[in-house]
Amino acid sequence: MSDPQAPSRPVILCLSGNDPSGGAGLAADITAIQAQACHACPIPTAVTVQDTSDVREIHPVDADLIERQFQLVLADTQVSAIKVGICGSAGNARRIANLLAQIPEIPVITDPVVRASGGFELSRQPMLDAMREHLIAVSSVLVPNQDELAALYPGIEDPEDAAAVVFAAGCNWVLLTGGDSGRDPVENLLLGADGTELVSRWPRLNAAFHGSGCTLAASLAAQIGLGLEIPDAVHQAQAYTWNCLDQAFRSGAGRLIPSR
Ligand code: PLP
Repeated sequence: MSDPQAPSRPVILCLSGNDPSGGAGLAADITAIQAQACHACPIPTAVTVQDTSDVREIHPVDADLIERQFQLVLADTQVSAIKVGICGSAGNARRIANLLAQIPEIPVITDPVVRASGGFELSRQPMLDAMREHLIAVSSVLVPNQDELAALYPGIEDPEDAAAVVFAAGCNWVLLTGGDSGRDPVENLLLGADGTELVSRWPRLNAAFHGSGCTLAASLAAQIGLGLEIPDAVHQAQAYTWNCLDQAFRSGAGRLIPSR
């Protein structure tokens, strides 16, 4: 049997889609988490057909199959944090939210993905509703970009007002990323239910990337799993992600892959 003296690593469970180009989704999660000296447990929520330019198809994994994987891993392994990316369907998002509600002690970092950088819509209205009504309440940190926050809370102009709704739902942190703003420097804003407001500025890198949001959310989950306080974890994850983008490499004809 196993050696009780063997060293351990924080385990980060990932509920994300598979990207066969290896830039986003589970491949991004696993490599980013490994790079923080943590161990990733990958549970696919959806299978996608995509290349480094854009997504072509998304096929949800059966919710029962997700649940069986989730339950078995959790029964076997002490999980330090959970990263949630695309869920594949509104039904999957609700099922995942129900599963997460049973383990409130484990921090959940949710990337509310709406659209791939190539333009493909990964979350339609029912998925947005499921995220807003179920998934956010069981999340500890929500990591939206500006488009995603606006899609989740249409009509709420001020990000601080939208964050207040997130806090009221039970999620205590919002890391609003500014990569999609087009501005230089990129401004990321961390808002906390405790009144925290921290702006970080990063020089804009002049390239198009595939999997940057997944890299940030997964490395953040790992830093939280390592035990850092949220503002410190957010700083480490941003610095790591910026360096991955700065060193990004080409694997296909589309966007660059972060060097995780
Ligand atoms: N594919 C999967 C499985 C994803 O999870 C995501 C984003 O979360 C994407 C594609 C889109 O990634 P990007 O916008 O970085 O190209």
